[in-house]
Amino acid sequence: MTEQLRLMAVHAHPDDESSKGAATMAKYVAEGVAVQVVTCTGGERGSVLNPKLDRPDVWENIAEIRRAEMAAARAILGVDQAWLGFVDSGLPEGDPLPPLPAGCFALQDVAVAAEPLVKAVREFRPHVMTTYDETGGYPHPDHIMCHQVSVAAFEAAGDPERYPAAGPPWQPRKLYYHMTFSKARLTALHEGVLAAGLESPYAEWLANWDDSRDRGERITTRVPCADYFPVRDDALRAHATQVDPDGRWFHVPMEIQQQFWPTEDYELARSLVERSGAIEDDLFAGIRESATCR
Ligand SMILES: [Zn+2]
Repeated sequence: MTEQLRLMAVHAHPDDESSKGAATMAKYVAEGVAVQVVTCTGGERGSVLNPKLDRPDVWENIAEIRRAEMAAARAILGVDQAWLGFVDSGLPEGDPLPPLPAGCFALQDVAVAAEPLVKAVREFRPHVMTTYDETGGYPHPDHIMCHQVSVAAFEAAGDPERYPAAGPPWQPRKLYYHMTFSKARLTALHEGVLAAGLESPYAEWLANWDDSRDRGERITTRVPCADYFPVRDDALRAHATQVDPDGRWFHVPMEIQQQFWPTEDYELARSLVERSGAIEDDLFAGIRESATCR
């Protein structure tokens, strides 16, 4: 009998799990993997990004609404989900940038903020964890903090000397970073859209692309999950305040996405199992073989 594989995806806000790695999670759920999303903050300082819901009653109840949206999204993805309970830092805007609000997630001490995640890791006992890279993948202070606490928890969870009050040690075998937006992917989708005689939503984005910040070279792992792109989109739409259903996310026809870039991509950032050097197609490569029942 083989032990059930477990995947933990750590995200900053409710909705991030549906825009980064969602099809991967849905695929693994369908294969019988236990998947848990850990959401660091409640998204209390998020904007209302859907013009149809940009109303005072929505703004006033945003925290509750986002909890309900998250409940809908996790049901669609078929994942378990836990909140760490930190408060959204908000995306600072302006020049100069305003200070972050007191008590927010990004102002926490990393070693302290990692403890509830260490506890979650020791309870769920994931073989694989995913998070953002050191840039956050997107310059939001909560995304950068999410990266920092994820790395800290990955490194501490297996050490019985650290966080002794957070449960018996458990060491995940691999940590991956999402590599969602590479120039190669956007170019492939852009060309696919043009070949179909449609207007590309990516022309300007690509024209202004900063090659020095492109992360395509860092991709170690491409998980084929095109069959689950529609599930990903359904989950994303469940976060109705956070996504404009008429926006850029949904402009590239599904068949073009499935044909021209049928994977979600990752960088293997930490690994306790050996890897061959070839591009992987499975987050559990090297783990499946050894995850036997104990
Ligand atoms: Zn976010």
